[in-house]
Amino acid sequence: MLIVMDKDATKAQIQGVVAKIESLGFEAQPMPGGERVAVAVLRNPGPVDPAQFVDLPGVIQAIPVSRPYKLVSREMKREDTIIHLPGGLDVGRGHFVVIAGPCAVESETQALTIARYVKDAGARIFRGGAYKPRTSPYSYQGLGKAGLKILQKVRQETGLLTVTEAIDHDSLRLVAEYADIIQIGARNMQNFSLLRCAGRAQKPVLLKRGMYATLDEWFMAAEYIMSEGNSQVILCERGVRGIGDHARNLLDLATIPAVRRESHLPIIADPSHASGRRDLVPPLARAAVATGADGLMIEVHHEPEKALSDGAQSLYPDQFRTLMEEIRTLRPGGW
Ligand code: PEP
Ligand code: MN
Repeated sequence: MLIVMDKDATKAQIQGVVAKIESLGFEAQPMPGGERVAVAVLRNPGPVDPAQFVDLPGVIQAIPVSRPYKLVSREMKREDTIIHLPGGLDVGRGHFVVIAGPCAVESETQALTIARYVKDAGARIFRGGAYKPRTSPYSYQGLGKAGLKILQKVRQETGLLTVTEAIDHDSLRLVAEYADIIQIGARNMQNFSLLRCAGRAQKPVLLKRGMYATLDEWFMAAEYIMSEGNSQVILCERGVRGIGDHARNLLDLATIPAVRRESHLPIIADPSHASGRRDLVPPLARAAVATGADGLMIEVHHEPEKALSDGAQSLYPDQFRTLMEEIRTLRPGGW
């Protein structure tokens, strides 16, 4: 249920609605909009009778929300969400962003070298894993906190913002301290305790789609984060398990318009993890832009043959530059 307040509603009237919701044993979450405030009713086990709210002072409408996810849904919030990042960088509602960098932070020199290339080509956010959730325990696991410090250095030296993955509660606390955006990876998309922890963090969260997740499961994962009070969620389509071995995963481009229809959250695409092969990254990236993605996450490495993870899908800096030029032609307004 969404209680829509009159645009002239006073703080006391909004508080009256919150108190009413809480008196029924539910949770209230005020959602300031461009024009007016709405108050979401959460944690109600069944349908809520709108008649209980419509006569309260300042209320103009009580709208039942039919979707299982509430805060994520466009029924709750009509206008696209914009994620405001430091330095005036916005994502969503027409604000397009490119995130680029290596799969993993390997050393300060490696990170800074790649960061300078991708910045020069137009990326605004640097990616690089310090904690790597690897399929094999024998594969490179990342530099941990030392990697986060390198990301901090990259930010200081280049001005690029940073995003990096948290894989458990301890790493999440550190990622929230050192990075601008907390990434929750495909493998942890349904790690509900980690999602709640991300929901309590004071940083935006980039939530990747699980490799077997339906759209509803993905939205529910985002709902976990939002229901803890963190409304700054960016969704990232990174491909689901497909058939065949021509690509690592199947980039599900239909999610981009489908997410836009169902949710107000920004949606970006990761053609690197979707394809697993650098030759497939540029066409998939262009397709994602054409489908309406709010941004891209792309792996880039200056020496991919020596990369400690995902070298085969990492673009060479020159390839990345060419791709950025192509994307500019697809988005004549730039970004
Ligand atoms: C990554 O971005 O480095 C990563 C591991 O991605 P995913 O969770 O999509 O596999
Ligand atoms: Mn990777």
